Amino acid sequence: MTAKIPITVAYGDGIGPEIMKATLRIIESAGAAIEVEPIEIGESVYRRGQTSGIEPASWASLRRTRVFLKAPISTPQGGGFKSLNVTIRKSLGLYANVRPCVSYHPYVATRHPAMDVVIVRENEEDLYAGIEHRQTDQVMQCLKLITRPGSERIIRYAFEYARQNNRKKVTCFTKDNIMKLTDGLFHKVFDEIGAHYPEIAREHWIVDIGAALLADTPGAFDVIVMPNLYGDILSDVAAQIVGSIGLAGTANIGETVAMFEAIHGSAPQIAGQGIANPTGLLLASVMMLVHLGQNQVAERVHNALLKTLEEGLHTADIYEDGVSRRKVGTTEFAEAVIDHLGHFPDHLKAVSYPASVPKIQTGWVKQAPAKKMLVGIDVFLDWRHGIPDELAAGLRRVAHPNLTLTMITNRGVKVWPDGLPETFCTDHWRCRFMALEGVEAGHGDVVSLLNKIQEAGLDFIKTEHLYTFDGEPGFSLGQGQ
Ligand code: NAD
Repeated sequence: MTAKIPITVAYGDGIGPEIMKATLRIIESAGAAIEVEPIEIGESVYRRGQTSGIEPASWASLRRTRVFLKAPISTPQGGGFKSLNVTIRKSLGLYANVRPCVSYHPYVATRHPAMDVVIVRENEEDLYAGIEHRQTDQVMQCLKLITRPGSERIIRYAFEYARQNNRKKVTCFTKDNIMKLTDGLFHKVFDEIGAHYPEIAREHWIVDIGAALLADTPGAFDVIVMPNLYGDILSDVAAQIVGSIGLAGTANIGETVAMFEAIHGSAPQIAGQGIANPTGLLLASVMMLVHLGQNQVAERVHNALLKTLEEGLHTADIYEDGVSRRKVGTTEFAEAVIDHLGHFPDHLKAVSYPASVPKIQTGWVKQAPAKKMLVGIDVFLDWRHGIPDELAAGLRRVAHPNLTLTMITNRGVKVWPDGLPETFCTDHWRCRFMALEGVEAGHGDVVSLLNKIQEAGLDFIKTEHLYTFDGEPGFSLGQGQ
């Protein structure tokens, strides 16, 4: 008999306990060798004043078992409560969010019968670094961080996932026509890493048209890899167009720990009524069983679930007259899946999880550091008077032997020299000073420039150094420059 593997389980809020009990009953009936270690998270913990929604002691369980099956929780509004999901993902380094979205046509109504897409979303970086500042009366800022190690890890994960699961194509969505450095890096790394997987087709779409195509013809996609924000939005779109958000599960994968959950929330409106669909959490548990190496159990559960859906035993969220055979509650649905263990679907494609799939190894390749040269500085000012030429005149009096004013922008648009009177300006100005051609600026130059700006009575609120890396500019041009 296989030794039982301890897993950490949270029953969550709302419909969480109902769907978790159903899920555990099914996988244990299928022979899952697991030892449940329950922890409490969510509403009750928040209410006790723990703003993270998780007790310090629960981290010990997560770090010991390294496998977390989590039911949805309710996040109280306001009051400084932090998103538990974001805390868990970032604290445990769960960098990859993997979400398969499959349609069960004609058994579950969907406009996209051929959909079978896996979204691989970067889970830690991008605008989710949460580094935000108010800079002036009128302007807030959020830093978008895209790193080479982060991009390499998630993109390699997507290609390895595709290879392991016999997928034929990996698509990347970015907005690198606008964000040439951040999204540009993600796209560049996608091309570099994709070249090592010649058997897998690769394509890139600008995220706006890519999103439109995904919503319209999802059958054209296979695996899609995306930075965090686009992945967050589009993985919900993909799950929704499959038929019901009650149907999808998701895995959050890190180097050592992995978390598995349904994609939906705690559905408080239907909690306690015994009508919730446990499919999303059940499919998450199937991903967990594969992760634990219990592939045969995963296969039994998944095929029994497909057979149950095909038999038309449907919970209320997917029930449809003329298509479904009987409306069932959570417990009855679980019993039907258990009755179908050992059976395969007749029409839907049966799944197979070949034994002993190695854990996906990702990592990143350390490169020799580029030669970095300071060639200028962007000084941001809080200035309310509104006429760019006046600001330029004031700044040109700030004579510096090495750093010369070359451009002023407002919200990224060049307003000096040769700005247009129609350009709307806020109180937040970016003033670009460049070093003399071929002369490297030093930190001393920056400090003396700032001193002069202060003496001129101007309020600088932040600076960004302008470097070249191996001669390539590490900064964007102003719009209109
Ligand atoms: P929700 O996903 O809970 O519900 C959206 C709609 O889908 C509702 O009509 C609901 O009844 C239905 N639904 C969801 N899951 C279902 C299921 N398994 N079976 C049948 N119907 C189902 O989203 P919401 O209403 O925006 O959020 C409710 C709470 O859940 C909020 O407190 C939110 O913060 C939380 N939430 C938690 C998670 C998580 O823990 N991962 C994710 C999303 C939302």
